[in-house]
Amino acid sequence: MKKIMTPGPTQVRENVRMARSLVTTNPDLDLEFYEYYRDTCDLLSGLLHTKNVCYILSGEGILGLEAACASLTEPGDRVLVLDNGIFGKGFADFVRIYGGEPILYTADYHEDFDVTALEAYLKQEHDFKYAAVVHCDTPTGVQNPIEKICPLLKQYGILSVVDAVSSMFGVDIDVDACQADIVCGGSQKALSAPVGLTMLCVSKEALEAMEQRKTPIASFYANILNFRDYYKNKWFPYTMPISDIYGLRTALENVQADPDIHARHKKIADATRRAIIEAGLKLYLRKGYCPTVTVMEVPQGVDSAQLLQRMDETYGVMIAGCFDILAGKVIRLGHMGENANIEDVTMMLDALDHTFADLGYPLKASMKDVFLREMK
Ligand SMILES: *Cc1c(COP(=O)(O)O)cnc(C)c1O
Repeated sequence: MKKIMTPGPTQVRENVRMARSLVTTNPDLDLEFYEYYRDTCDLLSGLLHTKNVCYILSGEGILGLEAACASLTEPGDRVLVLDNGIFGKGFADFVRIYGGEPILYTADYHEDFDVTALEAYLKQEHDFKYAAVVHCDTPTGVQNPIEKICPLLKQYGILSVVDAVSSMFGVDIDVDACQADIVCGGSQKALSAPVGLTMLCVSKEALEAMEQRKTPIASFYANILNFRDYYKNKWFPYTMPISDIYGLRTALENVQADPDIHARHKKIADATRRAIIEAGLKLYLRKGYCPTVTVMEVPQGVDSAQLLQRMDETYGVMIAGCFDILAGKVIRLGHMGENANIEDVTMMLDALDHTFADLGYPLKASMKDVFLREMK
């Protein structure tokens, strides 16, 4: 079987797969399911260190981002879009769809945001309803300091929407310490549940902003307010995907039972970067590395498509290229969730060592050897 070492979707543990095959009830009518759903959301809140409420929506991570945007944005609203990566910039498209006016704050894609520079900008410009920031912008793997950025936005009365889809459970997120208003996660990244669910963690202020809108939310499926009173009214806006939620619950319990999860991600990411550097290859980022994904430049003389194909067809390891402005320029190694283990990352780096040799590109060191040395 092929090893999937892309930055999501990740491998799904057997107990999560089994949980999805359990006999189900009617999740609209069976009151016990409301308890189960709420307990699962509370578990999520606990793992994110927050008193804020969490909701699980039936849709991939993109639905979470769109729901945050649809629920907050009114026509004419000014929205600050913090752009130091492809997902960061992409949020502006959602804002436009819902009639808002995105204002981009664009910074170097090779590093995390400089909070001092952002502070200077906000001193001049702070008339925004909310701001969108990506915690880990997966195409480059940059991790932004939301623990500094969101409180800074708060000082100016700006709500924050954080895309934590590819960082959540690979990096410890303390939502209350961050004062983040909406934090979006996805089932298929470091949580290692199958694709299909998004998790939203929503502050009281964000819910109030939605309630105080002058215009109705221009969506039903992406309307967060439709979830607000589900427990009280014993009503969901649509039939909940109960099997997916059984799987998600088990994946959350796996995280809960794994106190080393964040330290392990960091150690594996540090060792992977070391391996790339010692092999004479180049990391895309100068600083701000997220421990869930490592992004390296495709060296001159190497064709990215050929490299990915060789990895896949000859060595049975799937890694990822990139899209948009980075198409063909970088390759991405995922080591998040269930993929963040020594055996799989060793196998991936061994395959990469061989692939570079096959393509006639000499490395200065074996990435596999450096990695194993660093993991001792
Ligand atoms: C994966 C991901 C999403 C969800 O998008 P898909 O690419 O459709 O899976 C959103 N934001 C970030 C930062 C992601 O990594």
